[in-house]
Amino acid sequence: MFYEISVSTPQKVALVDITEKIEEVIKKSNVKNGICFIFVPHTTAGILINENYDPSVVRDIISTYDKIVPSNIPYAHTEGNSPAHIKSTIVGANTFLFIREGKLKLGTWQGVFLAEFDGPRYRKVWVDIWEEKE
Ligand code: ZN
Repeated sequence: MFYEISVSTPQKVALVDITEKIEEVIKKSNVKNGICFIFVPHTTAGILINENYDPSVVRDIISTYDKIVPSNIPYAHTEGNSPAHIKSTIVGANTFLFIREGKLKLGTWQGVFLAEFDGPRYRKVWVDIWEEKE
C-alpha cells in the first residue's frame, strides 16, 4: 500500500521527527507485520534514523553537517543551494523499517527524521507498506 505524507519544515535546516506520521500510515494500512519503505522525492532533503529523545543530538548532527559541507566556499551549481544538495546525499533519500504488531520496530531511542536542508517548505514523503505473508 502506497501513501504520501506531507511535512512542513520550520526553517532552512531542520530535522523534523516524522515517526508519528509514519505510525499513522501503518495504522491506516492495517498491516501487523511487514516492511515499510520510506522515500523522500527531493534533492535537498533526506531521511535519517537517529535519537529523538535528547534534542541536543539533532543540534549536533546539524552543526556537524555544516562543518563537513561549508557554505562559504565556491560551488559550480548556480542556484546557490549546493550545500543542501550535498548534505542530502550524505543522509540519503530512503530507508527500510520493520513493522511488528502494527508498529514501527525501532531501537529505544530511535526516531525517523525528515532532514531538511533548504527550507522552510512543504515536503513529500512516500511510504510503501508491504505485509509479510506467514
Ligand atoms: Zn539546486
